[in-house]
Amino acid sequence: MPAAAKSPPPEMPAQAPGVGPSPVQRALRKLGLVRDIDFALYLPMRYEDETRIVKLADTRDGDVAQVEAVVTESEVVFRPRRQLIVTVDDGSDTCQLRFFNFYPSQQKQLAVGARVRVRGEVRGGFAGRQMMHPSVKAAGTALPQALTPVYSTIAGLAQPVLRREVRAGLARSVLDETIPAEFAPPGAWPLRRALNFLHYPAPDVAMATLEDHSHPAWQRLKADELLAQQLSQLQARRARGAQRAPALSPVASPDSLDQALRKALPFALTGAQQRVVAEIARDLAREVPMHRLLQGDVGSGKTVVAALAAAHCIDAGRQCALMAPTEILAAQHFGKLVGWLDPLLAERGLRVAWLTGSQKKKERDAMAASVESGEAALVVGTHAVISEKVTFRHLALAIIDEQHRFGVAQRLALRGKAGGELEPHLLMMSATPIPRTLAMSYYADLDVSTLDELPPGRTPIVTKLVAEHRRDEVIDRIRVQLAQGRQVYWVCPLIEESEAMDLRNATETRDELAEALGDQVGVGLLHSRMPTADKQTVMESFTANRLQVLVSTTVIEVGVDVPNASLMVIEHAERFGLSQLHQLRGRVGRGAAASACVLLYAPNEGGRVGEAARARLKAMAETSDGFEIARRDLEIRGPGEFLGARQSGAPLLRFADLTTDAFLLDWARELAPRMLDRHPALASAHVDRWLGSKAEYLKA
Ligand code: ADP
Ligand code: MG
Repeated sequence: MPAAAKSPPPEMPAQAPGVGPSPVQRALRKLGLVRDIDFALYLPMRYEDETRIVKLADTRDGDVAQVEAVVTESEVVFRPRRQLIVTVDDGSDTCQLRFFNFYPSQQKQLAVGARVRVRGEVRGGFAGRQMMHPSVKAAGTALPQALTPVYSTIAGLAQPVLRREVRAGLARSVLDETIPAEFAPPGAWPLRRALNFLHYPAPDVAMATLEDHSHPAWQRLKADELLAQQLSQLQARRARGAQRAPALSPVASPDSLDQALRKALPFALTGAQQRVVAEIARDLAREVPMHRLLQGDVGSGKTVVAALAAAHCIDAGRQCALMAPTEILAAQHFGKLVGWLDPLLAERGLRVAWLTGSQKKKERDAMAASVESGEAALVVGTHAVISEKVTFRHLALAIIDEQHRFGVAQRLALRGKAGGELEPHLLMMSATPIPRTLAMSYYADLDVSTLDELPPGRTPIVTKLVAEHRRDEVIDRIRVQLAQGRQVYWVCPLIEESEAMDLRNATETRDELAEALGDQVGVGLLHSRMPTADKQTVMESFTANRLQVLVSTTVIEVGVDVPNASLMVIEHAERFGLSQLHQLRGRVGRGAAASACVLLYAPNEGGRVGEAARARLKAMAETSDGFEIARRDLEIRGPGEFLGARQSGAPLLRFADLTTDAFLLDWARELAPRMLDRHPALASAHVDRWLGSKAEYLKA
């Protein structure tokens, strides 16, 4: 026998070879419960106190109580519906038990004269005490010493079965310390003690400290979890440090594309832009692949930073790719970058290429050929840019706009595109600022550059909340703007499940506005269903001020840039997410004119707006600071939704809460590098315990 057979690792519930998993095992797996440690880390959502027997006379209405009593009456009645009614007496008082669903075995258990232990919620009705569907056991067995855990479960997995499996997994788990004593989290318990306690707490625990996770046992779990997150991201970062990227030395020549572009720009860079451009240039000059997130509020000028990074890359004789999640956004970038760079590239025998999925094959083939030959020094498009069929001659820099909409798969697809053993440098741009704690936690594997300064000359946007029935006043406002030669956006909401309805709704709004505003005003319509060419035409007409009003669904959400637009109306604003509203609002206030954003909202039948919607509208009215908006958005939505695609595959924090556990996050951030340096084996064991196979996603 091989040596391993002597001590089989009890990783999986026993299973005969050749037999598939049982329904219970399948259900457990669905809950992510495979390894012993997964069970140990699967913590109760609440507890039941079965440690005490109380007297009926001492219970009050609403108490959950456990009593031992003798059955004095038991009968099945059929009116108003079939039910089992049982009376029990514990010497202090009586209580009626009612069961609408019951088995013959239960009826037998509750025969007159039986002594039973009953647990349920006491209701003090006019007919005396009652319990509906209490749990019933034989009386007299030993009372448990600890609270009874209740775990969140799914169909097909009964609570007692899950409880038994968790208990067994916990007992089998090797809970050796992974955190050396000198690093232990302040005030927290050792892991083994913490887990045993959290599954089976002593009955005298202050329940509130379990519920709000402030108990030292919880502190330990949260600290452990945050440390695992930090360690895994640091491991990923260090692993990347071993990869190679083409080192792109800056070219200090007045003829460089970089210099030419700076000269051609109609404005001077802000201090923040200069700083960030320099940070990126330093990264690009290194042989290690850059992994940088560029964040800045809407309108902070990320595009020109991207263009300068591209110029740096092209000056070094390499190719750059820029990707956006939607075609319209990619087209906007393309327009800007072509405007800036194409004339300069043409002088150098180079060009900007355009690649999307909707392109005609002939055009795409031509573009792909110029990418392959290297003539296309810059390639702009949707994720078609990284499709397998596109071969780069010498890609060195990939820029991803709206990174949160790109998942791990796309990031992985970039690998190998630089040719040979080399990885491209990666610059990710985020349209939404990321709250600090979230960035430190979920983005710890990235370097972050922040544009914390808006270009000069912007006038603050006034935001108004207006109820739907005052729509006419809003149309008057539009007239005022138009009379001043300004342009207006009108955004219609997405009606879920029905693009056809969106379209009808947006079309009707366009017609309504066209009629209200008269023949002199051009009112255009932009909808996600339109063919790309038509969208482009409409966008161009609006940009050129041939159209004065643009009605659209959220396709203008990101990136579009028409400085003459000074009013944005968002219809059914209560249906939009907060970041989305902020992005939309950022489309105005780009020029010197005073700008406004009107959020039209429609109360529902009850005359109210839902709580979350109200919080979003309130935030919009109160602040236009993107970082503050992001913080509130996180508060309203929680990290899961906030993180979008980054979260797919990336394990969310289950226990720690970044708003209350910031100090534990600091502790973990500080400890992670020291632990990797001094105790690499413990660090790996720690990550494996917490993340297991899920740590893989970070290798992307
Ligand atoms: P975002 O960060 O939202 O992508 P953009 O790159 O679209 O912002 O820039 C917003 C607007 O500000 C654009 O019209 C851009 O040309 C302009 N802009 C960028 N940088 C500056 C600057 N330093 N001075 C003046 N205008 C600028
Ligand atoms: Mg942008």
